Amino acid sequence: MTDGDYRHVYIIVEHEEGKILQVSLEMIGEARRMMDDFNKKYSSKEKVVAVLLGYNVKELPNVLIQHGADAVVCADNPELNHLRNTIYTKVIAQIAQDREIASKIELEYAQQFKRPRYMFFGADSIGRHLSATVMAQLESGLASDINKLVVADLQITHQNKTGGKPLTYEKTLEMYRPDFSGFLWTTILCLDNKNPAMQKDYHPQACSIIPGVFEVIHPDSTRQGTIIEYTPKFDEQDLRVKIIDRKIIKSEIDFDSHKAVVSFGRGVKDSPEQNIKLIEELASELDAQIGITLPLSKRPFSVSQTVDSTYLIPDRVIGISGRKVSPKVYMAIGISGAMQHISGMRDSEFIVAINPDENASIRDECDVFVKGRMEDVIPIFIEEIRKQKQVVQA
Ligand SMILES: Cc1cc2nc3c(=O)[nH]c(=O)nc-3n(C[C@H](O)[C@H](O)[C@H](O)COP(=O)(O)OP(=O)(O)OC[C@H]3O[C@@H](n4cnc5c(N)ncnc54)[C@H](O)[C@@H]3O)c2cc1C
Repeated sequence: MTDGDYRHVYIIVEHEEGKILQVSLEMIGEARRMMDDFNKKYSSKEKVVAVLLGYNVKELPNVLIQHGADAVVCADNPELNHLRNTIYTKVIAQIAQDREIASKIELEYAQQFKRPRYMFFGADSIGRHLSATVMAQLESGLASDINKLVVADLQITHQNKTGGKPLTYEKTLEMYRPDFSGFLWTTILCLDNKNPAMQKDYHPQACSIIPGVFEVIHPDSTRQGTIIEYTPKFDEQDLRVKIIDRKIIKSEIDFDSHKAVVSFGRGVKDSPEQNIKLIEELASELDAQIGITLPLSKRPFSVSQTVDSTYLIPDRVIGISGRKVSPKVYMAIGISGAMQHISGMRDSEFIVAINPDENASIRDECDVFVKGRMEDVIPIFIEEIRKQKQVVQA
């Protein structure tokens, strides 16, 4: 294995009802920035390659090019109309190893091409599943839920990877992941085994990326790119599972028609039942919908059956594992501000947080931070809102 075996960054694009998902555009934006720096630093011409699977999706490649892709590999086939993991995994793995495709992306690099250097998936329910199965198929590693990427040349000494000797790993993707509610950052590397006793390559260096973290590039309709049509190869076996019908079930928890969302987290812990009642009262004054953090959906407290089944439910979770909201006012009560939660609410117009810990990460995300316990602060808010309403009505 040599460095020239791996080229480009491949981004697995998701779309729904003819529209590319925001996270896919965000990944392309970040890949564009990353590869522009990369090509400058290493005097190379590696590309941002979008991989698009679906049926009747011929309109979408141009959108991807306008948002920063150099090339789009488009597999447009009736069998790819709806996502079936086994088929999608197979086709993505085919595309990732196809030298003919690589020759259309950049002829100069095609002869030696084995696999993409880097590969990005969205860290949503589809991308998380697909990233795991594709990387298993390609026998490489995967870092999940990443929110920062850096390309660096690193000196590594490792018993298995380098046989205990210091070796330089060029063009290594440092994949940063927020852990323990964002209190700790883990850097994940996907390194080839260069130890002569156990050589093995681990490329692509792949990750799934948290939605809402990276910025979408302003679309440029004059941008030029290459569209590569790919005809997938299926076996009879692959097509055994058929999708006969598909319905998108809308959630009963409607966030969109409310101007305010009041969300609560583990900070309700001291007296969950009473605190949730307080939050309910506040939400009612604001005509707000109620959201929660992910740990609350696991029902960590003992509360009445009504509170439990009304509020501590997955449908109310805000964040990468739940819903994305952008109300005029978002109140984060007893929420620390983990990245996974923030990405579901950071587009809110005005954010108020109530938390006794002035070092909580939510402080960096809000417009108003009220340092205090919810038990003390919410009653003051409720009283003040009622007073203000009377003034308006008078
Ligand atoms: C793959 C993955 C996906 C995830 N997806 C999501 C997701 O979609 N959404 C999500 O929310 N999380 C998600 N998480 C979990 C996330 O990382 C955090 O663990 C979680 O958001 C923390 O929830 P919290 O803020 O309620 O709890 P904590 O982090 O425990 O914070 C509780 C806060 O309450 C404050 N507090 C304590 N007492 C009071 C009081 N009396 N009054 C007011 N405040 C008080 C504390 O100071 C603290 O800041 C995910 C994690 C992983 C690994």
